[in-house]
Amino acid sequence: MPHTKPLFFRYLGSLFAIFLSVVSWQTRAETPTFILTSIKPLALILQEAYGDLITVDYLLPPQASPHHYSLKPSDLRKLSKADLFVWAGPGLENFLLTVLKNNPADFQIALIEEMEKSHPELLIHLNALTEHTDSDHSHEDQLVDPHIWLNRENAAAIAQLTGMRLEEAGADPGRISMAFNTFEQKLTNLTGTQTTNLNELQLITYHNAYAYLARDLNLTITDIVTPQTDVNPGAKHLVQLKQKAIDHPTCVIVEPQFSSKLVDKIFDQEGTKIIEIDPMAGQSATYTDFFSDTLRKLENCK
Ligand SMILES: [Zn+2]
Repeated sequence: MPHTKPLFFRYLGSLFAIFLSVVSWQTRAETPTFILTSIKPLALILQEAYGDLITVDYLLPPQASPHHYSLKPSDLRKLSKADLFVWAGPGLENFLLTVLKNNPADFQIALIEEMEKSHPELLIHLNALTEHTDSDHSHEDQLVDPHIWLNRENAAAIAQLTGMRLEEAGADPGRISMAFNTFEQKLTNLTGTQTTNLNELQLITYHNAYAYLARDLNLTITDIVTPQTDVNPGAKHLVQLKQKAIDHPTCVIVEPQFSSKLVDKIFDQEGTKIIEIDPMAGQSATYTDFFSDTLRKLENCK
């Protein structure tokens, strides 16, 4: 049967090709995906949620403020090694916009943009603080507060959106969903332990970073020391803040990314507490550690 042999080999050959493609698909699916995030807190969220399935790293050193950062050549090298890049969006890490334009859309998750589609109720619009009576103000002035990670519901949404992308890339949906549920449960378990009466505090924060945290913990932030982190606050504003702090028990939150000298000078009277909270989670090993640590520090305000 001279004709069957090549046919048999051809059959074997195509079987082998199928076998190879299955192996390479499986290898791809099993290979830990390397996810790079812009800032450390986002990496902590994804590490705690999916650490068994992926490897995670972050770009900015935690002592740097994402509001004022320039990419270094080493950052670009790190970026080129990532399978997926997760960032808040141009409202926070504006310095990434040009670099990311050259990458395919499925290389990145711009979280604020994605959350606007999937979880719009979780986003805080900065102009929501001021009442608009005119009906025709444009969409452009609806700036989203970019500090999205400072809230547990948002942390869950960030993990969920990333998990969906991992599934699309071939990760096992069962494992993703199990990992997500465990993470979400951890976040829920943090509630109710120490959050009593925090809403009675008058809080002043250094910059406008804590609206999401305030929503999560029912905090009352009455004032911001500096509305723009690159501009020194006006003298009149500072005098008003000082007077408020004299009139009411006040706690001022400073951040390691910005000098606290000014705050120390204005709020030097008795009865005003100054605490440092690091929104970039510089000292924390996990997201839940970061959140409990923040809670503990707020307790010291009382
Ligand atoms: Zn900020």
